[in-house]
Amino acid sequence: MRNEPAVVIVICDSLRADLITEADAPFLSELRERSAWFASHRSVFPSTTRASAASIATGCRPARHGLLGNTMALDEGDGLVLRSAGHVDFRDRLRRATGRTLRVPTLAERLRWHGETAISCANVSAGAGYFQDPDGHGFVYHPAGSFGPGLRPLDDPASAALKKGLPGDEAMTARFCGEMLEEREPSVAILWLSEPDYTGHSAPLGSPQHRRAIAGADYCVRQVAETVRRLDPGGERILFVVGSDHGMETVGDTIDLDALLIEAGLKAGEGSHDVVVAPNGTAATLYFAEPQGELPGRIAEFLAGQDWVSGVFARGQLAGVGLPADTPMQVAITLAADDRLNPHGVRGYGAIVRDTIEGKEFTGFGQHGGLGPNEQRPFLMICGGGFVPGRRGLATSLIDIAPTALRHLHIGHDDMDGRPLPREAA
Ligand SMILES: [Zn+2]
Repeated sequence: MRNEPAVVIVICDSLRADLITEADAPFLSELRERSAWFASHRSVFPSTTRASAASIATGCRPARHGLLGNTMALDEGDGLVLRSAGHVDFRDRLRRATGRTLRVPTLAERLRWHGETAISCANVSAGAGYFQDPDGHGFVYHPAGSFGPGLRPLDDPASAALKKGLPGDEAMTARFCGEMLEEREPSVAILWLSEPDYTGHSAPLGSPQHRRAIAGADYCVRQVAETVRRLDPGGERILFVVGSDHGMETVGDTIDLDALLIEAGLKAGEGSHDVVVAPNGTAATLYFAEPQGELPGRIAEFLAGQDWVSGVFARGQLAGVGLPADTPMQVAITLAADDRLNPHGVRGYGAIVRDTIEGKEFTGFGQHGGLGPNEQRPFLMICGGGFVPGRRGLATSLIDIAPTALRHLHIGHDDMDGRPLPREAA
């Protein structure tokens, strides 16, 4: 067995910190008592899985890593076109349009510089899975195709057979514990579960289905925790990090932003390239053919007057929410949220922008993407590696995970946006 420090990270996609209860998540409830748990943990903006995955991988906000949400408008030579960052070909499209994938190194790349290996297993969209390591520095296992160093395709029928939802998460977890952790012992191993996100998008938050999905994710975390304990009975060698990427709000209303802009004379027509709306659940980002023209300012003013918008960030204001100001994306909005209870007693509603790519009906179900209080409530617990158990009140973010992992591995991390989290309770 290796005697080197290692990091194991499990992400339960979309699990809101306040939905970890003894009834639905008995293991996580118990783990919270014997880990360092970060009670003021926040996502990034947009609080979408793909932007979050890139922030966990790089320790940087979207302003620096460049993956600006679940959808982005790219100009591959024929004007701005809306693309899903979850699609299997998005990584190559982004490289074609901008000359690169992520603009800053990932954990996997930093490990390779030191001759160490990262393994990532994900049962979420290809975008979220691949943006853990888009340029092939370590190993990525994903249903849409697995890759080794140099983006060498791996023959991987086990990953190809995975479906989103609990059975897929459980099969992936079993393989992660056995083959990845026990046999291969990488320096960093990341397991990204599809639940409770997958169910939360198609069932009401707090419904029996959603609660079963939380319980299933809890069961998967328990399997990994038991494996970590077997590999490191002393609890100092392996840093065990469990968290989520964001929470969810219940969708109350769907806004057709394209139609509103066309009606207001601010967009030429459906599919036009002058301004392209990238829907990101309870947020939207807007891309402009002429970023320095007057249209971004006019549209920001229009949006500021809409009662379904709670925040407009244009140009210089983008930096304040962790977004870049030097790209065609010149306006971002977060939609209005309120704290009503849904029929299952789960707090928080938000409006979403109609998604022209997915075209799914979300009303009454969970969504995320914006700065609402519940979607910005992921959880984070850290065990081992010298972390003293107990609640931490300090404000933390997804970007703090990578530097915390690198500190444990004695690898430099000073150039990240995030900072390593305190081992001691303040
Ligand atoms: Zn997510």
